[in-house]
Amino acid sequence: MFLVSTREMLLQAQAGGYAVPAFNIHNLETLQVVVETAAEMASPVILAGTPGTFSYAGTAYLVSMCQEAARRYSIPIALHLDHHESFNDIRQKVEAGVKSAMIDASHFSFEKNISLVREVVQLCHRWDCSVEAELGRLGGQEDDLVVEAQDARYTDPDAAVAFIEATGIDSLAIAIGTAHGMYKEQPNLDFERLALIRSKTDTPLVLHGASGIPAADVQRCIALGITKVNVATELKIAFSAAIKQYFEQHPTANDPRHYLIPAKEAMKQVVQAKIAVCGSEGKL
Ligand SMILES: [Zn+2]
Repeated sequence: MFLVSTREMLLQAQAGGYAVPAFNIHNLETLQVVVETAAEMASPVILAGTPGTFSYAGTAYLVSMCQEAARRYSIPIALHLDHHESFNDIRQKVEAGVKSAMIDASHFSFEKNISLVREVVQLCHRWDCSVEAELGRLGGQEDDLVVEAQDARYTDPDAAVAFIEATGIDSLAIAIGTAHGMYKEQPNLDFERLALIRSKTDTPLVLHGASGIPAADVQRCIALGITKVNVATELKIAFSAAIKQYFEQHPTANDPRHYLIPAKEAMKQVVQAKIAVCGSEGKL
């Protein structure tokens, strides 16, 4: 198959009452783990990369690797721009073959957020690229993006409806109490707010900051209408912990073909568990 947009994927998930997992990848190995596991479980899957990931790996390398993954497996695979903030940056990556983009203008005023998102939607839809935007503001840290707890804002349900209508986005990331990174204390999710937003719009809703949220809470969010669940930090922790453990046991090791194997295996277990939580297994 080819790399697809996330539009049909998320609408199908919404109709089927499950969510599509979005996993942040960084290199060949993390990409392999995600697509192999998703293919084994017959799950649609989103490969997400922040601006930092694209500059680390190189856009052309990343797009080529993901296109090869899509060619190799008969599951829907999307490569998604996670938390991109610049119109020109998104334009270059869409021209390079990316079919799903998040424009994060949530740090701007409501009006500025709308005007930038609308421009990105007009651009992306010409390329059959779906667009996710964020309203409200998640706390925590993802790459260079740091939002202090006092600056985090929950999504206003009525503003969400106006935002979707004004921008023409394909999916909306909402802030209901999750944060990026791992949690220092148990987060309190605002399920009522999620249900209210869902009751006011049919646009697919996205949950960021799902690392460290108990499976039962993520599943409750999906039951209330979340159709895309982002997972980044938990994958990094599993991957790096296995490498650390390998070197503790094999201090003289130096072959990446050896020390990356347990890292991939550890990350695979997280991917399997998240696909199970999302309920996307067998949903092709
Ligand atoms: Zn995020």
